[in-house]
Order: sequence, then C-alpha cells, then structure tokens
Amino acid sequence: MVNKKYFVQRNKCPLCASKNYKLIFSKTFKEIKSKNFFSNHLNNKFPLSLLKNANYNLSECLDCMVIFQNNILNKKYNSKYYNDYIDHNQVLEKNQKRVEQNQLIKEVNSIERMFKNKKIKILEFGAGFGTWISAVKKKNFKDITAIEISKKRRVYLKKKGIKVYADINNLKKNSFDFIYSDQTLEHLVYPGEKLKQIISLLKKDGILLIKIPSGFFLKSKLKKKYYAQNDEAIPLEHINIFTNKSLNYIKSFYNLKRLEISYYYKFYEFDYYKYLASDFYHRIFGKKILFKK
Ligand SMILES: [Zn+2]
Repeated sequence: MVNKKYFVQRNKCPLCASKNYKLIFSKTFKEIKSKNFFSNHLNNKFPLSLLKNANYNLSECLDCMVIFQNNILNKKYNSKYYNDYIDHNQVLEKNQKRVEQNQLIKEVNSIERMFKNKKIKILEFGAGFGTWISAVKKKNFKDITAIEISKKRRVYLKKKGIKVYADINNLKKNSFDFIYSDQTLEHLVYPGEKLKQIISLLKKDGILLIKIPSGFFLKSKLKKKYYAQNDEAIPLEHINIFTNKSLNYIKSFYNLKRLEISYYYKFYEFDYYKYLASDFYHRIFGKKILFKK
C-alpha cells in the first residue's frame, strides 16, 4: 500500500494500458537511498518525509515491454514536484551547459533538409526553458508552438516571445509538419494517451522526433545493488522507461515508419557518416528516434 496523501498507484501499463505486467523490482525508498539522492537533486522544499514507508516498484509490461514505476506522486504532489521542488535555476544552468549551441544548430539544419526548406509548422511538446525552440526560432522557421506544463517555464517562454500552451487539447489535428519532444515522455503519467494525441496533430508524412533516456541498461543495473541516481529511472520523475522493444511497439501500434537522419544526407558529405554512426547508435540505445506518420 502507498500513502494516498502523496501517492497513486499505476495498475496498468502507462503505454499500452495492458494489465499484463510483472513486478521486476521492489524496494523501499529508504533501501534505494532516495533521501540522499533527493536532498541533492531537489530543493529543500521537498518534504522528504513523504518517502517514509513507501516502495519504489518497477514493473515491466509483457505486451509492450515498457518498464514503469507503479507508485507515483498524485496530481497535487506531482504538480508541486515540477513547480516547487525542482530547482528551476539549477535546471536552466544545466540546460545551457548541456546543449551545445553548435550541436543544436546542426540538428535544426537537419530539419531544413527533411522538409527541403519549405515553410513548415513546428510543435515542441515539453519545451522546458525553450533552448531548442529558441534555436529553431533563430532559423527561418516562423510558425512554432510550444507546450509546457510548468507555469514558471511558460512565463519564461512567453517573455522570450514564444507561443506557448499548457496542454495540446486546443491544437488543430493534422496540422503540424514536425513535432519535437525531448526528455518528456518518461515523465508522463499516461505517455500512451499523450502519444496518441501528439500523433493526431501531425500531418500525414509529418515527422516526430523523440528523445528519451535509454532503457538499454536498466535491467542489468537492477540486478546489481541499485540506488536512486540521476539516470533513466529517477524515482518519481522518470516514471516510464522505454526499451527498444517498447519503441517498436510505438512504431507498429501508431502505424509509424522509423526514419534515419543519415537518409537526408549525401554520401559525399561528412555529416552523412556522422549521422550514419549516430543512427546505428540510436538503433541500439534508443535515445533519439525519428518517426514518420
Ligand atoms: Zn504495455
């Protein structure tokens, strides 16, 4: 049982809604040293006491093979987690350091190639502080929309002149050419439902680029002594872990094609080989996936 004041239990697969799943890891938050982890990872407003007597459980869906945390924060505390407990300044600093401007520009160049410099409509789902969308805006892309759940971040984005909404409900179906989602799906309570909505916003032949933490090593990590850490299975935060099999499920269930970035480059270009290697890497580790509708 979990303390309902803070937690809810997910009793079906968050990706495919199947009840055919098995518990693959179960320890108390204390056993995985969550207190240590959270006192560094979050600000001091986070009530560490909510972890008391609660379990960190991971289940694996036997139908779509996604791995998910069963015990997650309830609506109230989940919202507090992202609005109040996360140190936004620290995240902003990290983002600016993490994303090399150069790499970002290259990525935006690939989008220009995919659409042959046509005027396109772009959506970023989970825009954070807008590092990516700002880079896109600097290029010739004018029709861009951001979705960001955190109010603080939405205020920040609006100040930067970005069109931003809290949710995708009001957006027009079949209207976007390119949808980008970086490190967002792993945080959602129902990523399957959200994916369905996101894909419905894409035009036919539209492209969806998803970035997620790799679930490739998780099962072998769990076999050793596993502690809460800044990885693909952060307690209460990275509540869905996608493996290659679950990515294949997404591809076939939503009737998508998987694309390679190298396809958009010519063999005599240096970047062709760079993307060929990167495509190969992501086929194995599944951190960056390109789907076509
Ligand atoms: Zn499933």
